[in-house]
Amino acid sequence: MKIEDRLATVAYKVGYPPHLTLREERICRESCLDRPCTYVCPARTYVWQEDKLVISYENCLECGTCRVTCPEANLFWAYPPGGYGVKYRFG
Ligand code: SF4
Ligand code: SF4
Repeated sequence: MKIEDRLATVAYKVGYPPHLTLREERICRESCLDRPCTYVCPARTYVWQEDKLVISYENCLECGTCRVTCPEANLFWAYPPGGYGVKYRFG
């Protein structure tokens, strides 16, 4: 099964405020050459558009990969508040 088909089986309840935010936007633009968040995230939450990082936090699968791969420790990462976020189907 393709990743797009698998992601279609995942449900989300979007919370606010966003649970993924940048500490400093400037760091992504000026200090991070590879921008690994744009290719390690299985849900494609991070997209580089023009000269800024767009974060679609509502797609997040809460795997934690972006947090450990950001070379600048520039992500503020937290779980969504209780009752919000990703819901996996079991069985
Ligand atoms: S990996 Fe970290 S510093 Fe680099 S673009 Fe992504 S959030 Fe910004
Ligand atoms: S926690 Fe996982 S799914 Fe969520 S944005 Fe980071 S890499 Fe993507």
